Amino acid sequence: MSQVRIGAAQALTKSAALLARCGLARRCEGGCRWCAAMLPASRRTWCSDGCAAAFWRNHWWTLARRAAKRRDKHRCRRCGHSPPKRPAARAFPLRADYLAAFRRWRAARRTERLEVNHITPCRGAHGTLSCAHHVDNLETLCVSCHREHTRGLAVRRKT
Ligand SMILES: [Zn+2]
Ligand SMILES: [Zn+2]
Ligand SMILES: [Zn+2]
Repeated sequence: MSQVRIGAAQALTKSAALLARCGLARRCEGGCRWCAAMLPASRRTWCSDGCAAAFWRNHWWTLARRAAKRRDKHRCRRCGHSPPKRPAARAFPLRADYLAAFRRWRAARRTERLEVNHITPCRGAHGTLSCAHHVDNLETLCVSCHREHTRGLAVRRKT
């Protein structure tokens, strides 16, 4: 997948190690590791680019985060908040009005952005390929719901 900037050889060893432990991976002789369909002669792990992409989308944080937001339709799963949409230049006859709206949007984005939370904590695994990033383990939260969630975790740890 072109978005994944990682050496091909490195990706191969890492994905093999992950696949050995991954609960989503399929294990049947001669079958795709994602969908279990028969592998075409030219392929060894995935039957298609789509299956390879689905695997990366569930293990590579940058892709998983994006997939979770898309699945949650860019809304907080707890309170439904969605950040303001980027203003479209054509909606403003005057460029100055557009620039002002754009600046307001950019400022709001800092506090109203969406974050993606690991339901089962990932323990700092953001930088690595990990089964903690399965999209099923992710939820899109607004900044304040995420903060509240993290605070809840800290309280639970203490008690
Ligand atoms: Zn497949
Ligand atoms: Zn929220
Ligand atoms: Zn996995």
